[in-house]
Amino acid sequence: MQMNGSGISLQILSANSSVLTPRVEKMAMRASPYRVLSQRTCSSVSKTTAVSVFNFRNSSLDKVFPLLNITHYSTYSGEKSGSISKRRSRGPVMAAKKASEGAKQEDGRYKHTVDLPKTKFGMRANSVVREPEIQKLWDDNQVFKRVVDRNNGGNFVLHDGPPYANGDLHMGHALNKILKDIINRYKLLQNYKVHYVPGWDCHGLPIELKGNSTISLKRFLLGLLCNQIRPRKVLQSMDQDARKELTPLKLRAKAAKFAKETVKTQMKSFKRFGVWGDWNNPYLTLNPDYESAQIEVFGQMATQGYIYRGRKPVHWSPSSCTALAEAELEYPEGHISKSIYAIFRLVSAPATSYGLLEEFFPDLCLAIWTTTPWTVPANAAVAVNAKLQYAVIEVHSLLEDVSASPGSGKRRLGNVLKGQRKPFLIVASDLVPILESKWGAKLVVKKTLLGSDLENCRYIHPIDNRECPVVIGGDYITTESGTGLVHTAPGHGQEDYATGLKYGLPILSPVDDNGKFSEEAGQFRGLDVLGDGNVAVVNYLDEQLSIIMEEPYKHKYPYDWRTKKPTIFRATEQWFASVEGFRQAAMDAIGQVTWIPEQAENRISAMTSSRSDWCISRQRTWGVPIPVFYHVHSKEPLMNEETIDHIKSIISEKGSDAWWYMTVEELLPEKYRNKASDYQKGTDTMDVWFDSGSSWAAVLEKRNGLNCPADMYLEGTDQHRGWFQSSLLTSIATKGKAPYSCVITHGFVLDEKGLKMSKSLGNVVDPNTVIEGGTNTKGAPGCGADVLRLWVSSVDYTGDVLIGPQVLRQMSDIYRKLRGTLRYLLSNLHDWNPESAVPYSSLPMIDQHALFQLENVVKNITESYENYQFYKIFQIIQRFAIVDLSNFYFDVAKDRLYVGGTMSFTRRSCQTVLAAHLLSIVRVIAPILPHLAEDVWQNLPFQHTNEDGSSATYIFQTRWPAWNERWLALPVEDVDFWGKILELRTEVNKVLETARTEKLIGSSLDAKVYLHTADAYLSSKLHGMCAASNDADTLHRIFITSQVEILSSMENGLTENIPYMGEYLIQGKSRVWIGVSRAEGSKCERCWNYSPQVGSFSEHPTLCGRCYNVVGVQPLPAVAAVS
Ligand SMILES: [Zn+2]
Repeated sequence: MQMNGSGISLQILSANSSVLTPRVEKMAMRASPYRVLSQRTCSSVSKTTAVSVFNFRNSSLDKVFPLLNITHYSTYSGEKSGSISKRRSRGPVMAAKKASEGAKQEDGRYKHTVDLPKTKFGMRANSVVREPEIQKLWDDNQVFKRVVDRNNGGNFVLHDGPPYANGDLHMGHALNKILKDIINRYKLLQNYKVHYVPGWDCHGLPIELKGNSTISLKRFLLGLLCNQIRPRKVLQSMDQDARKELTPLKLRAKAAKFAKETVKTQMKSFKRFGVWGDWNNPYLTLNPDYESAQIEVFGQMATQGYIYRGRKPVHWSPSSCTALAEAELEYPEGHISKSIYAIFRLVSAPATSYGLLEEFFPDLCLAIWTTTPWTVPANAAVAVNAKLQYAVIEVHSLLEDVSASPGSGKRRLGNVLKGQRKPFLIVASDLVPILESKWGAKLVVKKTLLGSDLENCRYIHPIDNRECPVVIGGDYITTESGTGLVHTAPGHGQEDYATGLKYGLPILSPVDDNGKFSEEAGQFRGLDVLGDGNVAVVNYLDEQLSIIMEEPYKHKYPYDWRTKKPTIFRATEQWFASVEGFRQAAMDAIGQVTWIPEQAENRISAMTSSRSDWCISRQRTWGVPIPVFYHVHSKEPLMNEETIDHIKSIISEKGSDAWWYMTVEELLPEKYRNKASDYQKGTDTMDVWFDSGSSWAAVLEKRNGLNCPADMYLEGTDQHRGWFQSSLLTSIATKGKAPYSCVITHGFVLDEKGLKMSKSLGNVVDPNTVIEGGTNTKGAPGCGADVLRLWVSSVDYTGDVLIGPQVLRQMSDIYRKLRGTLRYLLSNLHDWNPESAVPYSSLPMIDQHALFQLENVVKNITESYENYQFYKIFQIIQRFAIVDLSNFYFDVAKDRLYVGGTMSFTRRSCQTVLAAHLLSIVRVIAPILPHLAEDVWQNLPFQHTNEDGSSATYIFQTRWPAWNERWLALPVEDVDFWGKILELRTEVNKVLETARTEKLIGSSLDAKVYLHTADAYLSSKLHGMCAASNDADTLHRIFITSQVEILSSMENGLTENIPYMGEYLIQGKSRVWIGVSRAEGSKCERCWNYSPQVGSFSEHPTLCGRCYNVVGVQPLPAVAAVS
């Protein structure tokens, strides 16, 4: 296909009739998209349900039913009417075909007077070849930039959330980037200066691992995918074999190389999706200018006192030896912990409550329950709820052996219950019955007391004999599980930590970076807390008669999202951002942002209000350094405005590698240089969420033309705790405002059955395969980017969305039909000149009504774009362009277009309507289907000029269609009447179909239709249409029959000779009688309509009156003249 720069490409078909012949035949078979639709849609509906076809997850019925209606509407009376429509619309086409074939001498007599559709715009998209050609056209001519430069309707900044520069793209990336592109392209047509800077997140552990050792990496990934190796083992081997020989700088260089290569690959795919953006200047979090802007944000937070260093429990991943953020955790199904009911012996009670408990000493114990026995060595207190009622219980004879009872799993009773002398236990009163059945023992309540009575009792730690207090904990202590008394280890839990602060408890955490017990853990030293260490603690406690029972416990437990291994809570020295300091400002800002869907506001509010301080340090090499020095002896940190500024300016010039290769002396500002020998550099880097969370500062505030806050952020729903939140926090802390004014979230992409995609299930849909086709998959031809984009537009992205082969087939089908609709428009406008347009006031009613429908569609589609509800656009377009137009207007129009006469009023009037449709439809679909729209535009057979007089060589140089209020102002009674006509037409078709089945008629043009109604108003309107002053509005043209007669009564044997009839209710009230007989007169050779006039014109004895008039004035077209 040749690209035509002027936008005009009027292709004259070959003058050679031998070339013409097959083409015309093709037209005859395919020119009507209606036919394709009516047959195929029908079969697809019978095979699948509309629900599975369109895949709205969480689809409510009101979302599904309109679709069902559409599909039913398209096949309005089932398979049979599909074939009648074929017959019906065949008349002019078949006549034309036969004429042009010149099968018999006289058949070809009028072929030069027939206007067949012509276009070079292919029926087949051939997207795999054509889309890259179109993209090249855009690139070569810098169309995006030119449109942005031209537009003057203000800025629109959609700020890109950076994907991780790590591995290939998946369908979630495609959904995300295409949604953004649909919005950007819509805004372009709306005259906005659209700024879209694509970004990549380049630091962090997975890239560090990957950049680190390519061979190990491949093995690692392959093994992971095939579930054949344990990631930890490979990580360990990587640590030993590869990692240690690398200096930090070598490692960073490899990681940077890997990240940049990945950026390149991913960028290529994004471009192939048809995404427009500033691809030559993307933002990468590893770029020096980005890193220095990030240091600046950090510095501002530090100088405002929001950054502090503290020992605090954080999520720690022993498998990757680093602290993790909430967003780096996942909670896989099926985690089982070893839980224990343990007891701690009380040694004293405060004077206030001693009296209550005196009688039970010295055999009185607190019973606790924990799912992490390895934290017992770090136990510092037992917490109770002051308001709960507790009971002192006596354990009587064991009822049964619980370990043997059914359903008990692997419960194991502790030694203390097997002995003769059993201690008194304190548990929450409400839990006594539950514990009775769990432990399989009779529990007798000896006394009850309040939790507050237990405060300041002291007990002996079962492992190292420390005396520890009973404390009052928070509302987190309930009677939902456990014993109502909570083992408190402030070094290993968030709530424990808070309680510890309140009571000044020691923050013990005798666990090292690898998750092994440290020296402080004494006898357990060196054991793995998630493995043998845990077992050893349980066994030791049991030996000390401190275990009541042990049982496996299935629950949600945080895993490292990268290594897929369990994490622990562990107190370490870390850097924190104090969220408490600006939480309220963040909450206020959330209220100012527009959240789509609305529920998202609750989500981010809940997450922001409940989040703890943000641990921003990581023990990694591949990242932006925390710009801090520590005193060699005192370990006191040195970090202030001056030092941070100095480091910032170094990094902005040399990149963050400078932190590793420059000396302390060089990195310190002048003032501190003489003390350089007292300091050493910190080795922590920043959490990658701090990297990406600074993008508003590094991109929106630093680049020309952009603005902060951005107009929009658009990411997956998981970013409420990720990027949306980290961006909000950094921006609030330093600027006091949110970095966005609108946030849109989308769900996850699942397979057709709603299952998560995974290699092992074999249900992964890869975006590149969808577009380009599989290399060796027979059943997966390339669909092109537009089909993928059509799918994106079809789903309600606010929930999870589904995709699979069946969905894609449906999308290809709809795409093809839409293409057919556009081809119909193009091919019937091949000789169109906008100057020949018929003024609105002169248009026939059918044409005014068509424009009324078009403008309603444009208006509704515009509203749906404004509300970002693309699935509504998909539904409207599908219904209107593919169904409504093809079933009615296009079908009826063929007669006028083909045989109405080249320059006749009826044909020009129809073309006026078709041109309006083409120009509107191509523009409203352009944001979703840019390649298709451009392909149409490049084949546009006439010049289009924008309202401001500028020309549009490319589709995006046009403007959004402004709707015409006059077209919308069609009187209500006319709209109502056309509704009745359409319904009546459907009923007439049913009677015609019966007549056809019974062989009375072949084509609908063989028929005459009789109508009678007692509804005087309707009857007079129908009479009026039979006598319409213009051919287009006459009723028999609308029914595509040769004649229509309105009977004024049913009496006097008027209907006796009419063989087929039926009675119908139109719009549920007007009763209409419909009859069908063979048409009167003879068949016109040119148009195949029957008419008594045929034979009455001596020069043209085979023509009807209409054709006689047309032929009389029809000039000889050049094409026909040659043949
Ligand atoms: Zn005729």
